[in-house]
Amino acid sequence: MRTFACARCDQLVFFENTECLSCGAGLGFRWADRELITLTDEFVGPPRCANAEVANCNAFVDAEGELCASCVLTTTRPADAQPEELEKFARAEAAKRRLLFELGELGLPVPSRREDPEGGLAFDLLSSRKAPVTTGHADGLITLDLAESDPAHREQMRVQMGEPYRTLLGHFRHEVGHFYFPLLAPEGSPEVDRCRALFGDDREDYGAAMDRHYAEGAPEDWAERHVSAYATMHPYEDWAETFAHYLHIRDTAQTAVSYGVRVAGPSPPRRVAADAAALDFVPLERRQSMRELLADWIPLTYALNALNRSMGADDLYPFVLPEPVVEKLELVDELVLAKAGAAAA
Ligand SMILES: [Zn+2]
Ligand SMILES: [Zn+2]
Ligand SMILES: [Zn+2]
Repeated sequence: MRTFACARCDQLVFFENTECLSCGAGLGFRWADRELITLTDEFVGPPRCANAEVANCNAFVDAEGELCASCVLTTTRPADAQPEELEKFARAEAAKRRLLFELGELGLPVPSRREDPEGGLAFDLLSSRKAPVTTGHADGLITLDLAESDPAHREQMRVQMGEPYRTLLGHFRHEVGHFYFPLLAPEGSPEVDRCRALFGDDREDYGAAMDRHYAEGAPEDWAERHVSAYATMHPYEDWAETFAHYLHIRDTAQTAVSYGVRVAGPSPPRRVAADAAALDFVPLERRQSMRELLADWIPLTYALNALNRSMGADDLYPFVLPEPVVEKLELVDELVLAKAGAAAA
């Protein structure tokens, strides 16, 4: 995430803000160029997204009653008569806005299902109060069980599943990885062959892989080749887990650089941290390579984890990236850059 400043008083303001806490100027997010806009005149400004109240959405839109580019992707949400579920929905939408901001920063196309009923992206944010909901992805439709917005439920699931990390944003980053796989590595392309060489063959029987995973668990040596135990279940999940990490790393590194955070080691060997331009998400040719980025990222995670421990909190980035995972991340990066380059051309 980038930092933003109030155009009236130059105070630091944040992605989620609707007004400047220093001077009171109205603020709103504009998806067209991903900028936080300051209202210089307190009486006139563009209309707010129709989800301004229900989802705490701070986006500006072109016409009264419209949904913004993020909210419009949600095709199903709780009814207005379910206030508790709406609160969870608002938290899920906040995480989804961060996902979409980063996809935009990376230059990845985000086709909406309304424009492209076959290949577009859509979200069903569903309450599982009355009927079970499975979080997942199918043909561009991402489904989220809104129970995941409840920290108590999420922590219980995290412990039950033996996961070191579980967040709403993490769910979205994983599921959108499934969405992008056929876009970045279409069937029959050289890219999909390269993915299969690294991740395994995603055409392998998914049901059988799932049964095996839940019966036997991950192989003992999973951490030598995979970023998570879940990634061992099936090549399809390995891709999605790796893609999620790619988004974790690129976004968190962008945030660090935006705030001027530099960490001087310990090893991997110290290299002078890139200046802000190197981490700018555009132009693409100036973007740091995955290995350059990781040389900054790994020491940064040591520092971030140490800071969290000082506060008695769990590690911010409780993961290890062995060489095979670095190679997978490099491939994801290469395919994302190629797609972004093609979209820009
Ligand atoms: Zn201000
Ligand atoms: Zn909105
Ligand atoms: Zn998955």
